[in-house]
Amino acid sequence: MPQSRRGELLQRPSRPGSMREQKPVARGPRVVHLEGPLTVKDLAVKMGLRAADVIKKLISLGVMAGINQEIDMETAAIAAQEMGYEVTQKQPEMTKEELLDADLLKEDPEETLRPRPPVVTVMGHVDHGKTSLLDAIRESNVAAREAGGITQHIGASVLDWKDRKVVFLDTPGHEAFTAMRARGAKVTDIAVLVVAADDGVMPQTIEALNHARDAKVPIVVAINKMDKPDAKPDRVKQQLTDKGLVPEEWGGDTVFVPVSARQGTGIDHLLDMILLVADLHGMKANPDRKATGTVIEAELDKGRGPVATVLVQNGTLRIGDHYVIGQAWGKVRAMVDDRGKPVKKAPPSMPVEVTGLSEVPGAGDVLQVVEDERTAKEVAEARRTRKRAGDMQMSSRMSLEDLASRVREGEIPELKIVVKADVQGSAEALKQAIDKLETSEVKTNIIHGGVGGITESDVMFAAASGAIVIGFNVRPDSNARRVAEDQKVDIRTYRIIYDAVDDIQSAMKGMLKPKMKETVLGRAEVRQLFKVPKVGNVAGCYVVEGKITRNSTIRVVRDGVVVCEAAIDSLKRFKDDVREVASGYECGISLEKFQDIKEADILEAFVMEEVPA
Ligand code: GDP
Repeated sequence: MPQSRRGELLQRPSRPGSMREQKPVARGPRVVHLEGPLTVKDLAVKMGLRAADVIKKLISLGVMAGINQEIDMETAAIAAQEMGYEVTQKQPEMTKEELLDADLLKEDPEETLRPRPPVVTVMGHVDHGKTSLLDAIRESNVAAREAGGITQHIGASVLDWKDRKVVFLDTPGHEAFTAMRARGAKVTDIAVLVVAADDGVMPQTIEALNHARDAKVPIVVAINKMDKPDAKPDRVKQQLTDKGLVPEEWGGDTVFVPVSARQGTGIDHLLDMILLVADLHGMKANPDRKATGTVIEAELDKGRGPVATVLVQNGTLRIGDHYVIGQAWGKVRAMVDDRGKPVKKAPPSMPVEVTGLSEVPGAGDVLQVVEDERTAKEVAEARRTRKRAGDMQMSSRMSLEDLASRVREGEIPELKIVVKADVQGSAEALKQAIDKLETSEVKTNIIHGGVGGITESDVMFAAASGAIVIGFNVRPDSNARRVAEDQKVDIRTYRIIYDAVDDIQSAMKGMLKPKMKETVLGRAEVRQLFKVPKVGNVAGCYVVEGKITRNSTIRVVRDGVVVCEAAIDSLKRFKDDVREVASGYECGISLEKFQDIKEADILEAFVMEEVPA
């Protein structure tokens, strides 16, 4: 359509159909509503003005833009205002991630809240009996005993006490508590401060006290080792009073309970007091909403893949729920409680172990149930991208050769690996094979695993964390190759799991000797396919990089995934057989034993060369 016709059209706002969102050119306030970036033409249409006038105005504002060029909202708004319009703008929509974050901060209405069990952490100075106290508490638990004791270690134990429940975090001490807090997680409702009656208040007692106070967590003091002849409970009370923890019997508001973890005395009273303090502080949650919780432990289990113990903090986690945990996502297929018993739902304050996560989350990561798998994946991916961007600074490069030489020098390095594979099954198989390789000399740590071609962001992630990239049946795309070269990231690609494992194993023993090295000669893009009688499919190609030689092997790559590797059957320019075709030229390629070439496939030509030792 010639320019002038278009100009005319723009001047006829009443014309239906072609003028979407057109408001009549108006009397009354001239208002233009802007949503997202738009072209100069769109803006002109919205205002019912000639595009040429809008272009002139933009030039006067220092913006050179053609009629079909996109301009940002800000520029559009300024131009519209300058031209006498009032501008209304749509607020940018929140991303799913932002919505989820906002959801976490939303408070539940009072009437939806129900009492929930308190979550307790035991803290105190070393050797004052934290572990012994936890053991004594568990032993007093009839239900656990009947179920055959604590069969499972999932990071937290639920205690049944007088028809109520108390949850204890299994890792005593303020270090774990602080590590969680550092990550913004608050899981503890009540701190039990253990002080040995003979030893009295010690430096770590004060530390633990300060940590609990800082977190605004109520404290119950357990004066332990009361069985000892030199126990001086009053001295403990005095020392803590000096620190501002005044016993009730002295007119303060802190509960002190004398106990002996060794003899099991005073434990009942301690539990009663914990529940009393819980009631005082009214720990509540809304069980009738989508669950949120915090990871208290997570690991990569050799058989089951990533597992995490999650303490549900609000809502109820149910089988079938989709969730995100930090950068990981998954669906609750099965859950077990602290006694290893499968459960169908986990209400507030219940610790459960979940499997089926996309990767191992970190302790302190927050679990949030979302409406569907798409949302879960989308949010996890958004977070991962942000994390990678944030992780870019500190980097120490690693390659299998570096690893080998560091092992030779007697170091105990950690080999971090990013694994990419063509299908989930092979990614898993490779991950498990690599995990089995870990020795006392070298730790292996798969920091990221996924399906699909090796991308720029995989390489960036590896660069940021000093990892190598292992590709199984997949190839790096050209951006990934460029970044890898730039950032000196070791990318190794394999077609056989055993070869990958073998290379890593040799490197771990400090004796990586790559016998054969692959050299990529060039790449050609399949532009068209021809069926030739007797020969089969011939790919009409354009060599985009390097060269293709008759004696090279061809790797057919489709969307980053290696479809096959095959020898060249024929390499032709027009009708002639040739020995090589250089970049910028067209050629016809047919492969031995492979007919399934498709348009847009990348044919990568490579040769294997001996590397002198
Ligand atoms: P933690 O470092 O705070 O976890 O302390 P432990 O639970 O490991 O206990 C340290 C030592 O104190 C161990 O030798 C326990 O047997 C002992 N112990 C713990 N509780 C008592 C108690 O109530 N009475 C006596 N006499 N010894 C105790």
